[in-house]
Amino acid sequence: MCRIIAIANQKGGVGKTTTCVNLGIGLARAGEKVLLVEADAQGSMAVSLGIQEPDELDVTLVNIMEKIINDEDVEPGEGIIHHEEGIDFIPANIELAGLETSLVNVMCREQVLRLYLDGIKDGYDYILIDCMPSLGMITINALVAADSVLIPVEAAYLPVKGLQQLIKTIGKVHRRLNPRLSILGILLTKVDRRTNFAKDISEQIREVYGNNIHIFENCIPMSVRAAETTAEGKSIYLHDPKGIVAEEYRHLTGEVLADEK
Ligand code: ADP
Ligand code: MG
Repeated sequence: MCRIIAIANQKGGVGKTTTCVNLGIGLARAGEKVLLVEADAQGSMAVSLGIQEPDELDVTLVNIMEKIINDEDVEPGEGIIHHEEGIDFIPANIELAGLETSLVNVMCREQVLRLYLDGIKDGYDYILIDCMPSLGMITINALVAADSVLIPVEAAYLPVKGLQQLIKTIGKVHRRLNPRLSILGILLTKVDRRTNFAKDISEQIREVYGNNIHIFENCIPMSVRAAETTAEGKSIYLHDPKGIVAEEYRHLTGEVLADEK
């Protein structure tokens, strides 16, 4: 059975895209069939996967969602790109911002992505959705389509407020639109291991949320190697296979795999 995981946090720059790409490719390296869906107008997942100019793509998630909205058929495999590291992905670009605005008047506007993924999910073990840094209608679509949410949190300051808002939104979607939805866990990212500050933050997060929400055992260290992958168009497993970031993403992959379907 396919598991659909939304990677969400309305704060930008916390490592959503990096986590989506490296968890996705990690799962593929473990033999799983993986699709990554970019639900972000910035197109940074497309860039991380080697597409230099996502705004020039002919077919993206936008066209596919438009077809679903207009009740048109989506061809099998339409818009899906195969990446050499063993995953499929659907990129997005700036046009997604326009689609978000026009969704307001659409029937079942929260369900568009779910309807699409329902049609293709049998072909995959995992679908990961890289969300945009907002809690707008595209992110709601991702939460409605997902079985669970992985929340990357940057260990740079205590983002209690933003995190509470996100958790509240997930709760609302769970009650009103998608009773399957659960929180897979909070993943601390960009952890600077040289400071006690990062340690304090991870302890605080465990204290405040640990009773109700799974906090992933491992965390992703701050490393220029991780930042470089975005420009390289490949995963950390190829860019710096022996480094600590690759090791931590392997560990995360193992935790996600162990979390029973
Ligand atoms: P988001 O999708 O939440 O906006 P990204 O994954 O795009 O976040 O990461 C934001 C920036 O931080 C990118 O430039 C990325 O290369 C960099 N980055 C991601 N993870 C790390 C890390 N562990 N250490 C250092 N830089 C990172
Ligand atoms: Mg991103």
